[in-house]
Amino acid sequence: AAFLDAEADELERAAEAALRPRRLADFVGQSVVRDQLALVLDAAKARGSAPDHVLLSGPPGLGKTTLAMIIAAELEGALRLTSGPAVQHPGDLAAILSSLQEHDVLFIDEIHRLARPVEEMLYLAMEDFRVDVVVGKGPGATAIPLTLPRFTVVGATTRAGLLPAPLRDRFGFTGHLEFYSPAELEQVLSRSARLLGAELEPAAGAELAGRSRGTPRIANRLLRRVQDWAQVRGTGSLDLAATHAALSLFEVDERGLDRLDRSVLRALCERFGGGPVGLSTLAVAVGEEPETVETVAEPFLVREGLVSRTPRGRVATAAAYEHLGLARPDDGAL
Ligand code: ATP
Repeated sequence: AAFLDAEADELERAAEAALRPRRLADFVGQSVVRDQLALVLDAAKARGSAPDHVLLSGPPGLGKTTLAMIIAAELEGALRLTSGPAVQHPGDLAAILSSLQEHDVLFIDEIHRLARPVEEMLYLAMEDFRVDVVVGKGPGATAIPLTLPRFTVVGATTRAGLLPAPLRDRFGFTGHLEFYSPAELEQVLSRSARLLGAELEPAAGAELAGRSRGTPRIANRLLRRVQDWAQVRGTGSLDLAATHAALSLFEVDERGLDRLDRSVLRALCERFGGGPVGLSTLAVAVGEEPETVETVAEPFLVREGLVSRTPRGRVATAAAYEHLGLARPDDGAL
């Protein structure tokens, strides 16, 4: 099931990196966040100081890491990348913080997963640009306060609501990334095809855009699979025939649902009679972590009107039954 998973392998990561826009002007879509960010950055540049810390929220693959890289490039600072789960102890964070230079950007992916003591150290660093480095152990240990240069934290999270309020409050700017429209994805795809040295036929681009779950990462991945197919089994051109063949090979259906989406939907309809069912029960039924179901599959299924979230749990809509070609139960799952 690795194909469309949030966790791409190293090769996929490298291929992805090659397609990243480097400047805000090349970043497609997200016009609200882009305009807001442009203002924040321009103002900081005009003042010659670091901008406020930036929090980016939204489902995976919409461009949070890309934006962090762009912010660092625009500020002409270096980018340090880390993630909530990677920083286990306050000492790890202290080491990262004390290596930062003026104008640097510290990107913390999955910032909602930071351990509490690390989070507390981060508050102080973000607010007062200070970190206490503990030297020695036991009763003889002393905290040496260290002043940090003006740097900018860019935090990324799948849902801003997962962040404790004190941490959320330390970000001066929060940008919420939305799913991309098919027209925006077509733009992403034709840019990517150009970078891959290929030409994407407009009909193929439109078809791919419609099946990419509103997500540039998925669009780019599907594009590479179409290119693979065209090179190995097709005529070499990225046309509609290659697109259909590659998408059916990788089990992406006409609405862009992948295997995980369909298994969530199927479990909801067939095993739980359409719901309502709790998130963790549903996750166990499909053999995934609740967080994966909640942040990867669900936002898209909800947006497509296939699933709705109610206080009592997840419910399959009439459209879900229709999409799976199933008859709706008489008692009305809605
Ligand atoms: P995650 O949180 O899972 O790491 P992300 O939101 O940080 O995801 P990125 O890694 O920034 O996502 O983007 C994934 C891919 O999508 C990259 O290869 C990037 O090239 C492409 N991409 C994202 N946003 C855009 C955009 N607005 N325009 C063009 N390409 C984009």
